[in-house]
Amino acid sequence: MPELPEVETIVRGLRTRLPHRKVLRTHLRHRSLYRRGSLTLRWLVDRTVGAVDRVGKNAVIRFDPAGLMVVNLGMTGRLVASASTRKPAGNDAKHLHARMLLEGGLELRYYDARRFGRFYVAEKCDFARDLNIGPDPFLAKPQYLTNVLLARKAPIKALLLDQRIISGIGNIYADETLFYAGVDPSTPGRVAGTQARAILSNARSVLRRAIKHGGSTLRDYRRHDGSRGGFQRFHAVYGREGQPCFRCGAIVEKLFIAGRGTHFCRVCQR
Ligand SMILES: [Zn+2]
Repeated sequence: MPELPEVETIVRGLRTRLPHRKVLRTHLRHRSLYRRGSLTLRWLVDRTVGAVDRVGKNAVIRFDPAGLMVVNLGMTGRLVASASTRKPAGNDAKHLHARMLLEGGLELRYYDARRFGRFYVAEKCDFARDLNIGPDPFLAKPQYLTNVLLARKAPIKALLLDQRIISGIGNIYADETLFYAGVDPSTPGRVAGTQARAILSNARSVLRRAIKHGGSTLRDYRRHDGSRGGFQRFHAVYGREGQPCFRCGAIVEKLFIAGRGTHFCRVCQR
């Protein structure tokens, strides 16, 4: 599932190709891909792509003179900029659910095998109010996270996954963050809250390193040009159950918290 570093990688790629191009034509295969309250993609025709940004796990494409498209990639979504003459082949053709033809022969394509992704098109958007998402980890204040965590009983792992609290962290980077912060993933929020500063700073450094490596490719995630990310080779705990912790040599364990596979080192995370 694409998390913040993967979406940031995609956004940086799209940013080099999309801006200043006018939207000529759009197509969306299933209306169910729209988030509730969204305008249609067609509303964007004749508008020109402006800034390409990211908020949490969402890619945000802004248009001139007004309007924006927020794309959440769900489990298996991919946003790819292709030459419009290049025909998608095989499975790609089957999973191509949205396309936006731009001036200059470029097409923005959205592939999604499982179709959990969502599009939200609006004239303007208040992310907290309209999309119900919390602050990005790079913008959140430590005091904010401290206060939110201290008020909650749920395990810190589950709280980090809650996009209403902080947006952009998913299963991989929650596990990696808690490893580097030295926090046991089952610690209740009201206890882990005292470690919020360490959790936030380690989240940022893990996310920054992942962005540097183009994100983590486990299954479907690809960069905007179709290439794979490389950060999966550097995971400290995620996907490493049964292998020795690189810091202390103890065996990395896996358990389930809030239904999600959670990887941790019992010695390094207390
Ligand atoms: Zn360890």
